[in-house]
Amino acid sequence: MPELPEVETVRRGLAPAMEGVVIERADVNRPDLRWPFPERMAERLTGQRVERLRRRSKYILADLSGGETLLIHLGMSGRMTVSGDPLGQFVHHHPMPQKHDHVVFHMANGACITFNDPRRFGAMDLMPTATAEQHKLLTVLGPEPLGNDFNETYLIDAFRGRATPVKAALLDQRIVAGLGNIYVCEALYRARVSPRRKAGQISAGRVGALVPVIRTVLAEAIEAGGSSLRDFRQADGELGYFQHSFDVYGREGQPCRTEGCGAEIRRITQSGRSTFYCAQCQR
Ligand SMILES: [Zn+2]
Repeated sequence: MPELPEVETVRRGLAPAMEGVVIERADVNRPDLRWPFPERMAERLTGQRVERLRRRSKYILADLSGGETLLIHLGMSGRMTVSGDPLGQFVHHHPMPQKHDHVVFHMANGACITFNDPRRFGAMDLMPTATAEQHKLLTVLGPEPLGNDFNETYLIDAFRGRATPVKAALLDQRIVAGLGNIYVCEALYRARVSPRRKAGQISAGRVGALVPVIRTVLAEAIEAGGSSLRDFRQADGELGYFQHSFDVYGREGQPCRTEGCGAEIRRITQSGRSTFYCAQCQR
């Protein structure tokens, strides 16, 4: 399941093929993904120039010249592939259409962007750019973890009086947008905070210290994604899934990497999801 760094990597990979470029044609091969596509989606996209490709949480937003914004969500298994040869930047040839190619954007520069999603938990929608932030999926979101509104004062305030474990609080999209299971585990490990501790019972100093750690963990993952884009010519044109090594995530039973610790990484289930942590280092 793509998390924020993967989505940001997809956005960065799509930008050179889409930004400033007109959508010549859109093929919409089925009526819905997780929800029905908006009315006449293909028609509304045709002839529109993509003015800007931005990201809010795990959503990619394409602002179009006609005043609408296209929202793209990759869901659990959504993948985007760039093929064609716009300005000689991409060497991938248009592949044969695959089974789950639900939407294909044919760009005026020759790029062909395919949205493939076998499980169909992804989504696309169109809304006026002016009121995009009020879209039902976006209006519920807290601040961006890499933005200025997510700071020490904000997080200390948000955690005050909360009886939920800090792991659950950080996964709460109303508190901070776009943080997922993997990067929350990594951030708590690095900040040495136990995922089981109640958010409201952590000292202000330790809560504040989580902010730069979360930013660093995400920035490092985005950097790893950027490296994967530099190898793009050799890759198959698929964006956003890259190799990244984690300090705790997926390391159950292996020794903690903190120097002088050596305890085994544990896995527990919290709100139905796996948490990996070191009971020795994280208090
Ligand atoms: Zn440890």
